[in-house]
Amino acid sequence: MIFEEIEKAHIGKKADFTSEMKNNSKNYLFHCKKCDDILKINYQNQIDNCWTGHSNKIENELYEELKKFYNIGLFNKFIDGGFPVFDKLLC
Ligand SMILES: [Zn+2]
Repeated sequence: MIFEEIEKAHIGKKADFTSEMKNNSKNYLFHCKKCDDILKINYQNQIDNCWTGHSNKIENELYEELKKFYNIGLFNKFIDGGFPVFDKLLC
């Protein structure tokens, strides 16, 4: 594995974000689980990257590894539905 998972996804986990929480903001702000810095994800970038499943900051090798790790299928769909979009954020 060439990445570190800080928080494990599980079926009972409450969503950190739902589209109703967006309001008029352009970014989703949250705290890094490791250092508590404030990080942001731009909503439009996530929407624009929904067909490829990742931003241009995620190399193909890492994307393939993430897909395997999270059981994401051939058509970039998560097993429980939805199309995850991976991005790389720095803190
Ligand atoms: Zn951090």
